[in-house]
This record gives sequence, structure tokens and C-alpha cells, in this order.
Amino acid sequence: MQPTKAYSAATPAAPLAPTTILRRDVGAHDVLIDVLFCGICHSDLHQVKDDFGGATFPMVPGHEIVGKVAGVGDQVTKFKLGDLVGVGCIADADGTCGECRADHEECCPNLSYVFNSKDRHTGGTTYGGFSQSIVIEERFVLRMPKNLDPAAAAPLLCGGITTYSPLRHWKVGKGQRVGVIGLGGLGHLAVKFARALGASVAVFTTSEGKRDDALKLGADEVIVSTDPEAMKRHAGTFDFILDTVSGEHDINAYLWLLKRDGTVTLVGLPPKPLSVRAFPLIVGRKSLSGSNIGGIKETQEMLDFCSEHGITADVETLPIQKVNEAFARLEKGDVKFRFVLDMASLRD
Ligand code: NAP
Ligand code: ZN
Repeated sequence: MQPTKAYSAATPAAPLAPTTILRRDVGAHDVLIDVLFCGICHSDLHQVKDDFGGATFPMVPGHEIVGKVAGVGDQVTKFKLGDLVGVGCIADADGTCGECRADHEECCPNLSYVFNSKDRHTGGTTYGGFSQSIVIEERFVLRMPKNLDPAAAAPLLCGGITTYSPLRHWKVGKGQRVGVIGLGGLGHLAVKFARALGASVAVFTTSEGKRDDALKLGADEVIVSTDPEAMKRHAGTFDFILDTVSGEHDINAYLWLLKRDGTVTLVGLPPKPLSVRAFPLIVGRKSLSGSNIGGIKETQEMLDFCSEHGITADVETLPIQKVNEAFARLEKGDVKFRFVLDMASLRD
């Protein structure tokens, strides 16, 4: 085991602080990655606050990891020293179940997330990317496109795949009217993807102040969701709506906005249950669905799509020493549109 510098939260109430963790030695199929950048997703914040219960502490968050290969096991074939690579949410999956064989590791019953999950290799808990380095099996390592800025590409590893996957699954494209609820880290990437796929895009936001940014990001329209009259004007006009909201909100207001056979898909994880009324669902045969990140194959496809279309996140890069400030600002919605930690700061 190798001592590795990291930042961890000792308890749900504690600020993150410097620590040393142990990483496993590089096994035959493993890749050792020196972490260069790590995005801060609202899921990191939910978990650090133990919003869903059952979290394990101490916790090292971070699941939007970009780094350089610093070591490979003798059976590794796809990566070599110095390669620019990415790691997202998935640290382990059995590789043998029907879901894995169908390239849906995100649905594997033996899935381990990159942090706050069972670590089969150490018998402990997985530790994420707020650390100097990480050891991961090559089948969960992504190739990062060379033409994208690595800091701005880091959020693609979770925020990117989480929004790309449902837009593709529900076949969003030309001639469709698509809504994105919440203009945060996920939401702003969803706008870029939906636009690149050829759809007409409307942003639903609680923040009037984000109007100009939404239009600059490629939205055709901005609807302030706290204005009931503005919402009513769009009743029955949307093919697909992606809900990226992290907190409590009224889902029924959006179900009314769907056309017949339209779909609202949740990717946001409000800790409290949503209250769904029957009427807006049954009138118009609508669907309410959900989507969890995406598999490794689709994540690589998404990265290649971003390379082709020049898509990255709009980021504010900070040293790890400012991680608690970043969490406090993320909680208030004060970020345009993703914080990324420059992990060189951990080596200083
Ligand atoms: P974020 O940057 O904080 O963005 C969330 C946005 O939602 C905010 O910017 C805000 O946008 C809106 N919002 C927040 N609270 C709200 C409320 N109470 N009512 C209405 N709107 C509200 O977070 P993120 O990193 O994009 O993550 C969003 C959610 O997705 C989180 O719950 C996260 O855990 C979840 N997530 C899920 C997956 C998955 O696989 N399904 C993957 C990653 C993240 P406006 O200011 O525009 O209203
Ligand atoms: Zn995430």
C-alpha cells in the first residue's frame, strides 16, 4: 500500500482537511494515475453532508478525475506512461453480469463507486479524486481527447455522461423541443449537448440572473420557473425535459409542460421524496423516468463526441485548499458553472 496525500471529511459536519490515505499497489490490470484536476459535483456535496444517509467517514470525495498515467500493471494493454486519462464515478463492477455484458456497468449489482463505496481490493472504502493519485483497473479508465482543455474536460466524467446518456437514450434531436431544469454543473452541459444534437432548448431556472448566460451557452429560450404565468404559457409544448435539480421542487409543474407521450427524466437527486400527482401524468400518456450516469463505453463515446464538437464545461479552477469555500458556494448556487480543483496544489 502506498501513502497518498488527500483531503477528507471526518464526519458529515466537519470541513474537509488534509490527510494521508493508503492506495493499493498496482496490480496486473491496474493503472496508477497522478490526479491533475478533479471537478466538484453536487453529488460530492450531498455525500459529504450525508444527505441520503449511510455514508462512510472519513470520506475522500471526487469523481470527475483527469490525470496522467504514472504506472501500469503488466497485463495493461490500452494505456502507457504519460497518457492523459479520465476516471468518473465507476471504480468497480463485476464484469460478468448481464448489465456489464450489455455495457451498463452503472446498473451492475456489484457496482462500486469511486468514493464512499465498498473497495473489493482493500476490504475498506473507496477514496475519490481529491487526492494525489488513484489506482484503478484499466477497464474503468477513459481516454481523454487531446484537443480539450483537461481542467474544463474533467466535469465531463460525471456531469457530462449523466446528461449525455439520457439525451441519447430518449433520442433527443432535430425538430424537438427540449427543456433543461436547473442551470448548474449538469444543466449547463445538458444545454450544450441538446444544442449539439440539434434540438431547440429551453432552460428552466429559478435564477433570473442566469438568463444571459443560458442564452450564451446555446439555449433558445429561458423560462423563470418561479413565474407561474410564464410556466403556463408553455403547457403541452415539450418533447423531453431533463431535471437536474438538487433540491426540493414541484415536478408536476413540468409534467404539465409535456406534449402527449413526452418524458421528464430525473438526474438530479433531491434528498426528500418528490410528490407526483396523477393528473399531469395520465393526461397525455406521459412518462416520468430517471437515469444514473452511464456505462464506460458510452462515457468514451461522450468524450469523443465532446472532442468532435468542442464541448467542455465552463469552469472556475481552484486550489484544493479552497475546497470548503467551493462547497459553501456550490450550496448557495454561486458557481459558473463547475468548480474544478487543480490538484497540483496538493503537491506543493
Ligand atoms: P448544481 O451545480 O448545484 O446545480 C443544480 C441547479 O439546480 C442549481 O444551479 C439551480 O439552478 C437548481 N436548483 C437547486 N436547488 C433548487 C431548488 N430547490 N429548486 C429549484 N431549482 C434548484 O448541481 P449539479 O452538480 O449540476 O448536480 C445536480 C443534481 O444532480 C444533484 O442532485 C446531483 O447529486 C445529481 N447528480 C446525479 C447524477 C446521476 O447519475 N443521476 C450524476 C451527477 C449528479 P437554477 O439556479 O438555474 O435554478
Ligand atoms: Zn457527479
